[in-house]
Amino acid sequence: MAPHITVVGSLNMDLVARTPRIPEPGETIIGNDFHTVPGGKGANQAVAAARLGIQVSMVGRVGGDAFAGPLLDNLAAAGVDHTFVTQDSEAATGVALIVVDDAGQNSIVVASGANARLTPADVDKAKTAIASADALLLQLESPLETVTRAAEVARAHGVTVILNPAPARSLPAGLLSLVDVLIPNESETALLTGLPVGDQSQTEAAATALLDLGVGTVILTLGERGAMLAQAGKMELCPAFAVVPVDTTAAGDAFVGGFAVALAEGRALAEAVRWGNATGALATTKLGAQSSLPTRQELEILLAQAA
Ligand code: ADP
Repeated sequence: MAPHITVVGSLNMDLVARTPRIPEPGETIIGNDFHTVPGGKGANQAVAAARLGIQVSMVGRVGGDAFAGPLLDNLAAAGVDHTFVTQDSEAATGVALIVVDDAGQNSIVVASGANARLTPADVDKAKTAIASADALLLQLESPLETVTRAAEVARAHGVTVILNPAPARSLPAGLLSLVDVLIPNESETALLTGLPVGDQSQTEAAATALLDLGVGTVILTLGERGAMLAQAGKMELCPAFAVVPVDTTAAGDAFVGGFAVALAEGRALAEAVRWGNATGALATTKLGAQSSLPTRQELEILLAQAA
């Protein structure tokens, strides 16, 4: 069967306004341009994987409002199957209210809406899509009990469970014991371990602390330093690809998508990290989140060029 990834996670509409500066509490200021763009870590990672030409199914919830249709259409346009994205007429679609000032600073409110109503029962309805996948992708913008249920279903069917613990929060041991590959960035690693991730030795100590939590494979994403692949008794720093970054939004989501595609296609772990690095690097070379995600052809060109 063709390789297949299932994502259980969030869909948001990002509402982005540019302003000269971020308003103070109680203040109203006149902004500049305004855009609505599809986002949410779950949907971003689903689209990242689909752009690379793999079959992707998404499990999630949108509301009964005007943002729901465009989010579903966006998934379909990217080739993501949304059979298991439920439309919940009693909820609002998840939104992220984003204000970006002229200096590039931002201020964000995520109103989870329907994402917070994704239940373990929704996961059970999508059991076939999870059980038949080569990898399951999870993040933390959905309720923990739902994320845990998805990991349980995958584990029961021998499907590789990949958890991107974003946004950062502490995790119960029960969930970690179901995870095959944990992919945190530097700030998530600091929160999960209480340790700094500065130089190489600190990074190795933090990776060891994460392995001690009971996860077999940990991949720390380190921005322009690349990524550290850690397994018991083995650490490997996989350097970043040299690019000229324009906007690092969604670099982490791109990394996870590229990594998961390579793994689902049967590539070795270190090669999959290289795919993650290349997909992440390409995402930094264009503006936006989903709009910056590379195609398979763009990825193959970079993979062929660099070390
Ligand atoms: P997040 O977006 O979650 O903060 P990172 O900043 O660690 O995550 O970026 C994820 C991945 O994207 C990195 O591991 C790396 O492969 C790639 N990446 C990010 N920034 C750069 C950069 N400046 N140059 C090259 N690759 C980058």
